[in-house]
Amino acid sequence: MTACLLARRHYTCGHGGNHLAQNPLYDALFKPHHGSEQPFLILADDSAISFDAFLRQAARFAHTITACGLDPGDRLAMQIHKSPEALALYAACVSAGVVFLPLNPAYTAREVDYFVSDAGAKLLLCDPEDETALRPVAKTNDARLMTLDRLGLGTFSDAARTQPEQFDTQARSLDDLAALLYTSGTTGRSKGAMLSQRNLLSNAETLRDTWQFSSKDSLLHALPVFHTHGLFVGTNLCLLSGAAMQFLPKFDLDSTLRLLPRATVMMGVPTYYTRLLADPRFDRETSSHMRLFVSGSAPLLADTHAQFEVRTGHRILERYGMTETNMNTSNPYAGDRRAGTVGLPLPGVEVKICNKNGDELPRGETGTLEVRGPNVFQGYWQMPEKTKTELRDCGFFITGDLASQDTDGYVTIVGRGKDLIISGGLNIYPKEVEMVLDVMPGVLESAVIGVPHPDFGEAVVAIIVPQPGVCFDPETIKAAAKTQLAPFKRPKSLIELPDLPRNTMGKVQKAALRANYQDLFK
Ligand code: AMP
Repeated sequence: MTACLLARRHYTCGHGGNHLAQNPLYDALFKPHHGSEQPFLILADDSAISFDAFLRQAARFAHTITACGLDPGDRLAMQIHKSPEALALYAACVSAGVVFLPLNPAYTAREVDYFVSDAGAKLLLCDPEDETALRPVAKTNDARLMTLDRLGLGTFSDAARTQPEQFDTQARSLDDLAALLYTSGTTGRSKGAMLSQRNLLSNAETLRDTWQFSSKDSLLHALPVFHTHGLFVGTNLCLLSGAAMQFLPKFDLDSTLRLLPRATVMMGVPTYYTRLLADPRFDRETSSHMRLFVSGSAPLLADTHAQFEVRTGHRILERYGMTETNMNTSNPYAGDRRAGTVGLPLPGVEVKICNKNGDELPRGETGTLEVRGPNVFQGYWQMPEKTKTELRDCGFFITGDLASQDTDGYVTIVGRGKDLIISGGLNIYPKEVEMVLDVMPGVLESAVIGVPHPDFGEAVVAIIVPQPGVCFDPETIKAAAKTQLAPFKRPKSLIELPDLPRNTMGKVQKAALRANYQDLFK
C-alpha cells in the first residue's frame, strides 16, 4: 500500500483482534484472517489492503458503532459509495452484532427516509455530499447521522481514528439477524428481508464448495456492495476461502480489462459480459488464465453464452438467487453448463415448481418456483402478513419467479410472476416470445410486456433493440413470429428503442416499460 493511501485511509501496521465470544459468522469469515498480511483488497490504483489491516479498521469501526450507542440487534443503515470502508462497516456490524442495512447510493432522501424509519435504524452513514439532504431524515427518525466518503474520510472515520484496533466480538447465534436487505420493490412497498447468520454462512459454504473457491483465487469484484450479489456472493465467498478481490468502485471496461490478468474468477450481471463482448480487446488471450466467469441477477441470453464461448473458450456459469434466499441454483462447476438455464439446485436447497395452491407440478411444466433450505430468509421485517403469504409454514418460500425444471433437474427461469401476460384469458410467458425475437435478423435484444387492451384484457407488446448498424424491419419480424408463435402470443405492437431500461443489477425494468406504454391501445 502506498504511504499516501495509508495516510488517507488510516490503515496501520500491527496485529490485533479479540474474539472471545462465539459469533459463528464472524468466526468463519473474519477471525481466521487476523494477523494475515496477505492482500485482501487490491484497489484500482494498485494499492492493497491486507486482511489484517482490514480487520483492524473493522475493529475501530465496531468500537465507533458501539460508542454511538448501538447494541446487538440494532440496525445501522449505510448509504455510501462502494469502498473498502463500506466492507469494513459490514465486518464491524457482524462483530458488534449490529444488523447491517446497506442502501443503494442512488436512492433519494425520500426513499432513505422510508428505509431508516421502517428499520428503526439508530445510525445512518452517508456520503458528505448527501449530508444536508439527509439531516432532516435523521432528525425525524431520531437516528444519528455520520459521514464517510469514497476515500474513507468523514465524521465517522474521524471518530474511529482513535479507537482501539481490537474489539471483543459480541456473542451471536446462527439464528440472530446479520443483515436487513430491502428488496427492489418494483411493486408496492420495498420489503426488508431479514437474513440470519445461518442464511449467509450456509450459502457461502455451499458456494465455496460448489465453485471450488480457495485462497489461491482472486475475484474481479465490480459489483455494488449494497446488493446480495456483490456483498454476500462475492465478498462472503472470498472471506470464507481467504481469496483476494480486485476491488473496483464500479464496472468499467478499461479497468476490467486491465485487472483481468490478475484475477482468476469474475462475477457479473449479464450486462458486464455483453459489454466485454462488444470490446474487441476482450479475447481468448485476455481470459485464457481465468478459472471461472459467473453470471446472475438477471437472465443471461443463450446467445451471449454462445458468443462468449466462441470468443474466449469459457462457458459462463449461470446461477440464480434473490435477496430473500441468497443463491438457490447453479450450473455445475465441473459438468454440463446449459445455456438459458440456471442449473441445478445447490446442495441443501430444495426447489419445486408449483401451481397457485402449492401443489407440485410434473417435471417440464411451468409454474411458480418455491425454494427451501438454510439459505431462505427469516421473513420480512415487521410485515408478518406479507411473510405469511410468501413463506409457507413448511419453510418453502414462494419466489414469484415462473420456472420449469427438466428431467435432469436443470431449472429454467421463464420470468417474474407479475410479468406473466394474460391475453384473452390465455397465459403468455414473456421469455418464450423474447427467445423467438432475440434470434431474428437485426434484433439485439427484446423485452416483451403486457399492456391494457380493451378487448383482450392485456395485449402482447414487444420492445425491440436493433443491432447497431443493422437495418431493422418490423414486417420481417412479424412474418417470422407468425411461423413460430401461436396467434395469441404474437406481439400486437413492435416498438423500437435504442436500449432497454435496466437497474444497476442489469434487470430490465419491465414495470417502467409497462407504465410508458399503458395507453397504447386506449
Ligand atoms: P434480487 O432480489 O434483486 O437479487 O432479484 C432477484 C430476482 O432476480 C429473482 O427473483 C429473479 O427474478 C432474478 N434473477 C436472479 N438471477 C437470475 C438468473 N440467473 N436468471 C434469471 N433471473 C434471475
